[in-house]
Amino acid sequence: MTPRRNFLHLISGIGVLAYGGHQVFGQSSPFKAKVIVVGGGFGGATAAKYLKIFSNGKIDVTLIEPNQHFISCPMSNLVISGDKSITDITFGYEQLVKKYGVHLIHAKVEQIDSQKRVVALSNGKKLNYDRLVLSPGVDFLFEKIAGLDEDAQKVALHAWKAGPQTLALKAQLEAMPDGGVYGISIPLAPYRCPPGPYERATLIANYFKQFKPRSKVLILDANQDVTSKGPLFKKIWATRFKELIEYRGLHQIESVDIKNKTIQFEAQGELKLNIVNILPPMQAGKIAVDTGLIKPNQRWCEVDFLTFESRVVPNIHVIGDAIQNAQLMPKSGHMANQHGKVCASAVVALLSDHEVNPAPIYNNTCYSFVSKNEAIHVASVHRYDAIQKTMLPVQGAGGLSVEANELEGLYANSWANNIWSDFLA
Ligand SMILES: Cc1cc2nc3c(=O)[nH]c(=O)nc-3n(C[C@H](O)[C@H](O)[C@H](O)COP(=O)(O)OP(=O)(O)OC[C@H]3O[C@@H](n4cnc5c(N)ncnc54)[C@H](O)[C@@H]3O)c2cc1C
Repeated sequence: MTPRRNFLHLISGIGVLAYGGHQVFGQSSPFKAKVIVVGGGFGGATAAKYLKIFSNGKIDVTLIEPNQHFISCPMSNLVISGDKSITDITFGYEQLVKKYGVHLIHAKVEQIDSQKRVVALSNGKKLNYDRLVLSPGVDFLFEKIAGLDEDAQKVALHAWKAGPQTLALKAQLEAMPDGGVYGISIPLAPYRCPPGPYERATLIANYFKQFKPRSKVLILDANQDVTSKGPLFKKIWATRFKELIEYRGLHQIESVDIKNKTIQFEAQGELKLNIVNILPPMQAGKIAVDTGLIKPNQRWCEVDFLTFESRVVPNIHVIGDAIQNAQLMPKSGHMANQHGKVCASAVVALLSDHEVNPAPIYNNTCYSFVSKNEAIHVASVHRYDAIQKTMLPVQGAGGLSVEANELEGLYANSWANNIWSDFLA
């Protein structure tokens, strides 16, 4: 065993670590630890790459992801509005294999036996692990909305996982006659990407303004008020889309009648729409639920924020949207990317008997486009509090755009390019 040293000394910065000053695992280290990463999205792909970097390639890392390509949810609202194409947001995983030596298996994890530390895959294979990193994203609680059965889900799309539904919603908008009504139903927070629904509504209103000016966007929000960037979105709706966008808070959807294209609310009766875009309530991805990582009556996985190890099942680290967030921590790709790095460094430390960083800090920036070229942002910084054993927002750090403009649009595009490269290139 190497003496326990402060791992912080070793990770004085990503650059140092990445490009190889220090060796966490010595060349002659006899221990070949096996880490399995489940889910190749923002969290999982980041963790897989940085596990390799932080261990100087010494850890055996296997990434398991059913999809052949990564399709980004950030920027997917611009595909729906016709301002980007699906190929603009679609990327391969090959660099993780070629450049970093990650083993990549395209399959679904069907079962995790946390006692034996074995995962069973949809291709029939079984793999064992020393530690497992789980980043399965969210799944939808369709059953919470009466009438939203499998057939109804083909019409009342969510398009909240980028891919075929992104294109299907775009096609619905193109087919809708001018003068039609598009409605987006937003669940009670917490849900994936707090500002995402308002960004979508604004971009669709932009599309209507150009191509179907007699049409209308209805934002039907179960929350009392806009959950993110409220004053900025409201100002834009009031000044640019007065006749086009209508916001209704406290509209909790109860059921949908897909034949008649109506939705019913708990308190406000019924509404007829041409396009019904329902974001159902969400919870941690099914595999997290099936593995017993969620406490009774909860929807998300509780973790130790120093290591992201589950508070329920040892040796499984959960990151990304699937976790129970700390105060003001959004479910975002940026956050999942930060979780991936902090978790990777902690897993390397645990497997090499070094001290885990006792004071992680991470940040978040969420851009929202309000037209093809203009964006707004919200940013925050979060620091570990050793007394409360949780992440707390750093007072006075972060902030909000003053207004939407094209410079922010440029920054937003750069943010996307940078973060995609950070975990895929
Ligand atoms: C419209 C929209 C816009 C958004 N815009 C932004 C933005 O501008 N900025 C931002 O920061 N965030 C944004 N987000 C949020 C962001 O997409 C998510 O927060 C992020 O994807 C979470 O990362 P994750 O790793 O938890 O999940 P994901 O990225 O969803 O990855 C989960 C992966 O796990 C895989 N998986 C699931 N189950 C299994 C299993 N059993 N076996 C193997 N693999 C499995 C899935 O196939 C998937 O690839 C947006 C989201 C949406 C919907």
